Amino acid sequence: MLEKSKQIRNTFYEEANKANSIQELAELRDSYFGRKRGLLTLLMKQLRDVTPDNRAEIGKELNELKLELESALERMKGQLEVQVLNDRLASEQVDVTLPGNRRLLGHAHPLSQVGNEIEDIFYSMGYSIEDGPEIETPYYNFEALNIPEHHPARDAQDTFYVSDSLLLRTHTSPVQIRTMETRRPPLRIICPGRVFRHDNPDATHSPVFHQVEGLAVDEGITFADLKGTLEYFLKAFFSERTKVRFRPSYFAFTEPSAEVDISCFVCSGKGCRICKMSGWIEVLGAGMVNPAVFNYVHYDPERYTGFAFGIGIERFAMVKYSISNIQHFYESDLRFLEQF
Ligand SMILES: [Zn+2]
Repeated sequence: MLEKSKQIRNTFYEEANKANSIQELAELRDSYFGRKRGLLTLLMKQLRDVTPDNRAEIGKELNELKLELESALERMKGQLEVQVLNDRLASEQVDVTLPGNRRLLGHAHPLSQVGNEIEDIFYSMGYSIEDGPEIETPYYNFEALNIPEHHPARDAQDTFYVSDSLLLRTHTSPVQIRTMETRRPPLRIICPGRVFRHDNPDATHSPVFHQVEGLAVDEGITFADLKGTLEYFLKAFFSERTKVRFRPSYFAFTEPSAEVDISCFVCSGKGCRICKMSGWIEVLGAGMVNPAVFNYVHYDPERYTGFAFGIGIERFAMVKYSISNIQHFYESDLRFLEQF
């Protein structure tokens, strides 16, 4: 039995050297101290069969072996626990030099940016910024702007009617009428906002879009003031090299009226795809306020003159950034929006 004890001690240490985890260590303990099949347990049971003469010596030896192996198992368990903790600390270590996760930052929509830019330029010229309702009466949207009943612009195909007596404004010009009703000249205002027209969405049309309309009224305002103001604005918005051209046109609200073109900044006037080979790009409509409009707001047309203009914010953004489809502005596609 002493021989057997020696053998158990040797195999225990051999196997203990191979145990690399808490789990393997537990299995090792079980194979020596297990209640039914543990090698040391079985050996100690055999002590009963030993002759009384030898029992004291062998019992002492087996008890020493038991204590030795138990303390060895405790020691190894402690070492393994330290190792597990160290491994975990190493694997969970934070490398502060690694780049962080990039979070997408929001910013102003391109239409807001262009709108703000337009507002800033006119604000610097002494214009105030006015606001008004999006749901209007036909009087403010049409009649007071010299657009009588049966005028093509009133056609139901162009206008969203909320009821017989209310509609969604088709331009921001009603704000000009409302402002003139409450203030006396001199007046220099711009009216930015959403407008609504019964158009099917396509590359150049949207049923909802954004305008900035402007109005200046004072004694002695002439077409030259209109030209100078718009030239200054267009050079400030597009570039100092921009050339500006006025072509005769017709709007009910103004007389005379003009379409305003800028020289193509892509080809500098030689002709390209952007300007449809003409060298010019149409950007806005303008004109001198029709004296008939002043009658509606009780301004004396003999004393006051004024000019007005209408800017499409989408149009300006599309021209400035060479965007070919107006729908990009409304699709909330980050691949598009992140470019601004
Ligand atoms: Zn061109």
